[in-house]
Amino acid sequence: MPILKEPSTEPFSRRRFFGWTSSLIASLGIPSFAESAKLTPPETTGGEDYYDKLGVPKIINAAGTYTTLTAACMPPVVLAAVQKAALHPVRLHDLQINAGEYIAKRLRCEGAVVTSGASGAISLATAACLQYANKIDPLAMPQAISGLKNQVIVQAAHRYGYDHAMFLCGARVTEVVTLDDYKRACASGTAIMTNFFNAAEEEVGFAGTAQIGREEWLRIAHEYNIPCHLDAAADMPPISNLWKYTGMGFDLVSFSGGKGMRGPQNAGLLLGKKHLTDLVNENNNPADGVGRGMKVAKEQIVGMVAAVDWVLSHTEESMQGDYQKRADLIAAAVKDIPSVTTEIVVPRIANHVPHLLIRFDPVITQTTTSEIVQHLRMGSPSIELNPNTGGKPNQGIPSSANTLVVGVWMLQPGEDKVVGQRLKEAFNKPKNHV
Ligand SMILES: *Cc1c(COP(=O)(O)O)cnc(C)c1O
Repeated sequence: MPILKEPSTEPFSRRRFFGWTSSLIASLGIPSFAESAKLTPPETTGGEDYYDKLGVPKIINAAGTYTTLTAACMPPVVLAAVQKAALHPVRLHDLQINAGEYIAKRLRCEGAVVTSGASGAISLATAACLQYANKIDPLAMPQAISGLKNQVIVQAAHRYGYDHAMFLCGARVTEVVTLDDYKRACASGTAIMTNFFNAAEEEVGFAGTAQIGREEWLRIAHEYNIPCHLDAAADMPPISNLWKYTGMGFDLVSFSGGKGMRGPQNAGLLLGKKHLTDLVNENNNPADGVGRGMKVAKEQIVGMVAAVDWVLSHTEESMQGDYQKRADLIAAAVKDIPSVTTEIVVPRIANHVPHLLIRFDPVITQTTTSEIVQHLRMGSPSIELNPNTGGKPNQGIPSSANTLVVGVWMLQPGEDKVVGQRLKEAFNKPKNHV
């Protein structure tokens, strides 16, 4: 991507960035970087800027915790814990087990495993359930399980890209639509697990077909002693979701570590019943099973534990930060543009934080959503808007062809102002088409 230098709109000097970082630290009431630096040897706090060295443009993330945008940035206290852990070897098994016990206690469940992410957690959940249902050796997966129980029951509307995380263990999906389908699938004797995509319950009739709610889903599977996995990867905040779903009876629940929890991007949590998390540990790295390639290093394990502590140091209210204020500030910057209207929406389940929707009439503004997206992306600094921009209603975000969606929660302090200015500029830019 060409890097367009526009010195007049170049607010990203090192000094300014450091200023913003410091005010973020102050606003969160956590030890400043300078303070936490005192706890670690000086050589670990410096370091070269490899983004600059590699020519990788830094972006303003006005999208959200998207994997392709490297999800969240770790808070300074989490980073400091990671730096400290990086300086000492330990026995990996000790760290895995003790971290799991600590997290389980803090998140009110029987067992916990730090995984390589939510996707890795889904694979390990599947492996554990294949093992539980068939009493097989972890090394039998995936090559030696045909003829054994190997089906994961999923509602048609809950099918998604992460199904592959189950397939790689050798499992297959039995798709159900109606309650009768579901009961038949449970009674068939081939199921090892069910998978429930939590955010698919965002709207009644999501994707037109989801008919079975969480409680009924659990009750029926449990009548047949089939463990239920819930994918809640992007569903914190609220903080209480970290124990709500295990409390409801889901046998295993996955969370992404690098999204709202702000741990390392290559970490996640698998929470649940101890007899299953024990099997998860047998399938996890460094054992030579399906989990071997999902290695979680000491830095990520410690980072994930520190992220759990960081999340639990908040109230539900403080976890919502100043997102509303940021959305208001950006809305104010574009409010005088002809035909523009704004709305702030909070999706009910995934990404449960304020998002700003900016609607406009492209005939009046003479610009389209894709032109504005390109303008922000090609400018300096490059800005990414939420990918629901210009799209259909999705997961609680009522977007449309003429709607810009601004995710404000991953913005660094001060970036809300930059996004507002640049959006205004994008609308007012001289038109080169009729
Ligand atoms: C992001 C996401 C995942 C994958 O999470 P990682 O931590 O990146 O592996 C899985 N399921 C859902 C619903 C997600 O949003």
